[in-house]
Order: sequence, then C-alpha cells, then structure tokens
Amino acid sequence: MDAPPSSSPPPVEQWVPLYENEAEFAAAIREGDVGRKPEPGDLEVGAHAIRCQQCQNLLPIEPCRHCGGRHFVLRRTAYGQVALHCRACTRMYDRTACTCGTVVPLSHKVLTRKVLLQPVPPGTILRWAIIAFACLVGLVLLIKLL
Ligand SMILES: [Zn+2]
Ligand SMILES: [Zn+2]
Repeated sequence: MDAPPSSSPPPVEQWVPLYENEAEFAAAIREGDVGRKPEPGDLEVGAHAIRCQQCQNLLPIEPCRHCGGRHFVLRRTAYGQVALHCRACTRMYDRTACTCGTVVPLSHKVLTRKVLLQPVPPGTILRWAIIAFACLVGLVLLIKLL
C-alpha cells in the first residue's frame, strides 16, 4: 500500500463485517487438517476483530497465547464448535470472552475486518465549488455575447 502524501489527513479506521451472511461464514470454516502456512483469507492480528453482540465492544484478535502466532483460520472443533486455529502451533481458541462477561460465539455477526477510509480533505469541496461557479459565470457571459 502506498503511503498517503503528508498533506492529507490520516485515514479513519472503520470495522465492517468480515462475512456478509451465514453462508460466507460457513464456507470459511475448515475441518480436518488445515496446514501451517498462512493463506489469503486468514484472520490476522491487527486486521480482524470480534464484536461482542451484548455490549458492542470490539475485541481485537490477539496473538496466540501459546506461540505468539498472528495468523488464524476458522476451524471446527471435535465438539462441533467453531474456533480460531493458530496456523503456527495448531492450538484452538473456542472461547472469546468479553470484558462484559459474555462469551462471544464465533459467527458471521461478530467477525469484523478493519478498513482504512481516506477522508475527503476539507479544501476539495471548496475547490470544486469555485470551479463550478467559474464555469457558470463563463456560460452566462457566453450566452450574453451571443
Ligand atoms: Zn461485551
Ligand atoms: Zn500458536
């Protein structure tokens, strides 16, 4: 990603749903052996978070407590639950506890990804307004001349 020029304001962080619906979420769940290499579509520390449906608190995905791994994949446990599976050490995390005391079950409703939005610099709208006004004045003068 290119760094924005220094004159533009810093991008605004927004968290949007990672999966649009139940089916997309279900398609992302792996079963059996998932391999140790990070793959596109993995959940990553810093890029993904879980939103508590109880208090709307955002719980960022944290590095693996066992090995510090930063890539996770959704995987079904032997008990049928969906868990975060660490790519590096294969440890599974099936309970995400929120500070409000809720254990947040993984679903398409709670998984979010970070997007950076570049805000429109305040000068841009004014500049376009001036250009539009100048065009209008030019047009009026042209009509008068004809
Ligand atoms: Zn909560
Ligand atoms: Zn790990």
